Amino acid sequence: MRPRTPPSRRTPFRTIPWKPGRRTPVLAALLSLALAAPVAAQAQDSPGAGHRSSPDRQRTVASGHAVRDEGRPRQYEVTGPATARQRSALASTGVAVDEVHGRSVVITADTAQAELVRRLGYRLKPLPAPPGSGTGAGPGTGGRIKDFPPGYTKYHNYAETMAEINTLVARYPSLLSKQVIGKSYEGRDILALKLSKNVAQDENEPEVLFTAHQHAREHLTVEMSLYLLNELTSKYGSDSRITKMLDSREVWIIPDVNPDGGAYDIATGSFRSWRKNRQPNAGSSNVGTDLNRNWDFKWGCCGGSSGSTGSETYRGPAPASAPEVKVVSDFVRGRIIGGRQQIKTAIDFHTYSELVLWPYGYTYSDTAPGMTQDDRDAFATVGRKMAASNGYTPEQSSDLYITDGSIDDWLWGNQKIFAYTFEMFPASASQGGFYPRDTVIARETARNRDAVLQLLENSDCMYRSIGKENQYCKSKAG
Ligand SMILES: [Zn+2]
Repeated sequence: MRPRTPPSRRTPFRTIPWKPGRRTPVLAALLSLALAAPVAAQAQDSPGAGHRSSPDRQRTVASGHAVRDEGRPRQYEVTGPATARQRSALASTGVAVDEVHGRSVVITADTAQAELVRRLGYRLKPLPAPPGSGTGAGPGTGGRIKDFPPGYTKYHNYAETMAEINTLVARYPSLLSKQVIGKSYEGRDILALKLSKNVAQDENEPEVLFTAHQHAREHLTVEMSLYLLNELTSKYGSDSRITKMLDSREVWIIPDVNPDGGAYDIATGSFRSWRKNRQPNAGSSNVGTDLNRNWDFKWGCCGGSSGSTGSETYRGPAPASAPEVKVVSDFVRGRIIGGRQQIKTAIDFHTYSELVLWPYGYTYSDTAPGMTQDDRDAFATVGRKMAASNGYTPEQSSDLYITDGSIDDWLWGNQKIFAYTFEMFPASASQGGFYPRDTVIARETARNRDAVLQLLENSDCMYRSIGKENQYCKSKAG
């Protein structure tokens, strides 16, 4: 039902066989959680030169290495779930559903969460561990590695991302501006980049928002942001579509919503399959909130997130309790000018599965309060055209399984922004899952060029796509 990528496009990556430990799974999970806690407690030092050489951090990373593999999240193929409701029931155990097929899914779970899924009667097949294992920080490396492993070095870590952005801002000062809109839990800057002709002025133009990297291990999404920044600046004045859009739109890019999680995922030189942020949870040694279940619309309403701190989809203790979600929410609300939200459309980039998704995620219904048939038809029409361009599969988010507290539901339900989620390359775990090699970056970011330009072009009136421009877009100025 979902188009599969031909084998010739598969990205090979080194696989490390998974070896179950001798401890019982639950005990192993508890041990690893307990040992993980000091890392979390010490991770609050500010990012920068001192961060890399923190002696405490080195010691903890090195000593924690031996047991981490047993409790850390990993992927399993689960055979059986065939409907959205069955997948929602599976997801309600608190695992993350990474991949959906006709009669199976791929999930990420730690040892204890996997046991919950087995209790539902499903059989779990462990998939190969993330690459990089054994290439980085074993005991003796001192934990100094804080970068991508071999085969991934073209991915930008946080410092490299900041450096690239600063270079572009310096090169294109009339077209690109940078502002720090807030800080992550560990104190890293969260940036918003603005691209437009006369960038220093707030002109009365439709605004478009691109966000990336809510989920730590989805590093390709940061590359997507950098691709857009490079493409839109360097082609302005020579590419007529880009020129027209920057002349008539204001584009916002928040390139890294979860910098702490991203840094943690690569800190040892061996990918950790980390998804959440790095905020501690009161009364628990479990770290992190799933940012894309923490937004303040129908938060925790519908079984589409977890209230357990140990879950991959932990929604946090309250809506927007994660500083990163609060920062971006405040930024978006700050674009309400004269009572009107200036941002009209948005894409939140994720990996993986090659999907174009639209809201709502909290309900299976196509229409719901705040989502009329015309709204839904405009979402679907533009979504399908973008998907026709990049080869992804278009569908409503809840066709996969129920999610609540997601950014798209908030952006639409609360702010009336036509917000999509792009699940980028690859289509499946066998093609690299969350960790495709860096050789795919150029191809898989450029793959979304036309879809992004389509969204920009539709942003003055999404209802034009369904032939209702006069009804919805002509009555108001601008
Ligand atoms: Zn994601």
